Amino acid sequence: FIDSRLRDAALPFWPDVASIGSHVGGDIVIGRGATISVNDPATGQLLFSYADAGADVAAKAAAAAVAGQAEWARLTAAGRGRMMQAIARAILAAAEPLAQLEALSAGKPIRDTRGEVAKVAEMFEYYAGWADKFHGEVIPVPSSHLNYTRREPMGVVLQITPWNAPIFTAGWQIAPAISMGNAVILKPSELTPLTSLALALIAERAGLPKGVVNVLAGFGHSTGQAALAQPAVKKVVFVGSVPTGRLIGEAAARRLLPSVLELGGKSANIVFADADLERAAIGAQAAIFGGAGQSCVAGSRLLVQSAVYDRFVDLVAQGAAKIKCGDPLSAETEIGPVNNAKQYDHVLSLIREGADEGAEIVAGSNGESTPGGYYVRPTVLKNVTNTMGIARKEVFGPVVAAIRFETEEEAIAIANDSEFGLAGAVWTTDVARAHRVAAQVKAGTFWINSYKTINVASPFGGYNHSGHGRSSGVEALYEYTQVKSVWVET
Ligand code: NAD
Repeated sequence: FIDSRLRDAALPFWPDVASIGSHVGGDIVIGRGATISVNDPATGQLLFSYADAGADVAAKAAAAAVAGQAEWARLTAAGRGRMMQAIARAILAAAEPLAQLEALSAGKPIRDTRGEVAKVAEMFEYYAGWADKFHGEVIPVPSSHLNYTRREPMGVVLQITPWNAPIFTAGWQIAPAISMGNAVILKPSELTPLTSLALALIAERAGLPKGVVNVLAGFGHSTGQAALAQPAVKKVVFVGSVPTGRLIGEAAARRLLPSVLELGGKSANIVFADADLERAAIGAQAAIFGGAGQSCVAGSRLLVQSAVYDRFVDLVAQGAAKIKCGDPLSAETEIGPVNNAKQYDHVLSLIREGADEGAEIVAGSNGESTPGGYYVRPTVLKNVTNTMGIARKEVFGPVVAAIRFETEEEAIAIANDSEFGLAGAVWTTDVARAHRVAAQVKAGTFWINSYKTINVASPFGGYNHSGHGRSSGVEALYEYTQVKSVWVET
């Protein structure tokens, strides 16, 4: 089943789409597994359904990737770079239909998806530049030998991604992988496969050899696991939740496969009394409510110094009440629904749990479900302590837990009292304090008087249970290559 609005949005990519399948070796391959039904997040009604790819299609993808990688690695590095520039241009040429397809199928505001598609083009441009500039070196060894290193591709890389930023995450992982001569099997979330499938198609239309990027449309426990079991797969990069990350890390370890795990977060956004409070309040809202809170780096714990706690939380609550929450396809919409029914129930239950634990809801939802789509009003919980469930569990929704602190030491201790360590921020006008706090918070990304600024050139990844390994920047190229040391008798 494909809803007629979705069929229209998909027309620029698949003019005669009859059913949704995987993209393997340049062909659409229809799975034969269980039916996957995906609801429109904005209405709760069925949007599309398709058959899980399953083990046969995963095996075909592995074979296609091996062939594709052999062809791709034969190109010069500069040739790969030129091809990636062509892909970047092709993404920009298809930017609006891609943004529309993402907004409709993932329930993300069109203003966000437009920005994310532009960033995907930037990722291909950025890594196109690296293709012939990340290489081995000659090592001055103390003997009559020449020793040099080669940076070689891993071969076939499996990437498993979540539903919160589907095309952004696909580009974020595919671009560095292929710039280094790898082929990719991407297994996007079963809830949001469409824009990843479209990206593979766009890349091939721009000239990328078939088989270099393959996309499996299917469930994680079946198709994802089958892909992970393919002997051709030499590395797995996983972006998603901690429980699934643990399963994938264990499966990879059994196969002695290297892995990158980009997992969840419960990031502390720390506001000192000496901060520019107006700016910090706008920043605190963007930190948690952007993307309806479905952002791994969301500033979900708002730590506010006691002297300004009431005033600042009021500012954030007033701002939250003004946010335009609605139809993802409307240009006015600032935040859309959460992605799916399970996530909706999860977010609402954590709001109720917070209230039961004694937190005060000062803006947004009371945790009761409403008819229609999966909408949750931007929600602010006051008088939260860091021991409450609402301060410890990842909500992945537009819900902020405001916690009070007295001193810098206490703020740092609360920030670090978490199983996660993905991101954090500090708002202060004291420069020395800003750098002290940045150095002491255990997180892979940290902002000073800002939140959520990211760029493809900068490394990204987690501390603690937020994962290991790095994406983005030059760091990603270390993940997507292996080094060989060559000795020559002179
Ligand atoms: P999830 O862990 O449920 O699923 C992620 C992916 O794993 C999906 O493609 C899913 O099909 C697949 N999967 C599920 N079970 C599997 C299994 N047994 N074997 C193989 N694959 C399996 O996560 P989600 O609900 O889609 O996404 C939300 C989570 O993602 C949040 O925790 C969020 O913080 C995290 N996330 C992290 C980052 C980051 O970079 N650190 C970025 C975005 C999202």
